[in-house]
Amino acid sequence: MDATVFRDWITSAAEVIEANRDHLTQLDAAIGDADHGINLARGFTAVLGALDVPSPEAKGPTTPGAILTLTGNTLISKVGGASGPLYGMAFRRAGKSLGDAADVDLPSLSVALDAALAGVQQLGAAREGDKTMVDALAAATKAFGKAIAEGASQDDALDSLAEAAEAGAVATVSMQALKGRASYLGPRSVGHEDPGAVSTALILGALRDAARAGR
Ligand code: ADP
Ligand code: MG
Repeated sequence: MDATVFRDWITSAAEVIEANRDHLTQLDAAIGDADHGINLARGFTAVLGALDVPSPEAKGPTTPGAILTLTGNTLISKVGGASGPLYGMAFRRAGKSLGDAADVDLPSLSVALDAALAGVQQLGAAREGDKTMVDALAAATKAFGKAIAEGASQDDALDSLAEAAEAGAVATVSMQALKGRASYLGPRSVGHEDPGAVSTALILGALRDAARAGR
């Protein structure tokens, strides 16, 4: 997977976040403060602006790692709310893990996504089961690593990643929130899907789609 795939990933993530802006905001209205879709759509619009280099002479990021690092930096500076720094950290750690490689294979992508998860947990201290984006990301990275270890093709491994993220998001419905704004609701947070877990599943679905199209 080369820089074009990663650029396409971020572009497609921005599109899917924009398309689900109201849905994410409604999910956040139920257990938070109704801004998750607005926050992320604003952030990814800024990311697209940062990635969009005006002329061939202008220097934009040219490696997968640099693209993810710029994405993370932009999300941190443009997104208010808990999710901005958390997603920012995730993309920065993934970018750092990829280094300056021009082409990323499945094992290095797996290591990078593990680093993203570790960054989110270091910053937000959420564990699996706390009803956050960690529930989608941890399920996804685990399934991805397992698929790779079992010799899955790139398409199949990325399918496992995206499907596990979706299942991880759905699993948050029955959880009580122990981190973030939703935790203020206590037991009343049960019965709603966590908005950050849903946006994580959308972003990882965009990765699967971009990688498949890029082959
Ligand atoms: P805010 O809660 O500040 O309004 P957003 O609405 O943009 O920010 O994002 C809310 C999402 O952030 C939650 O649905 C949850 O997935 C995620 N989140 C909040 N706190 C944490 C945390 N400590 N660790 C991991 N994810 C978190
Ligand atoms: Mg919110």
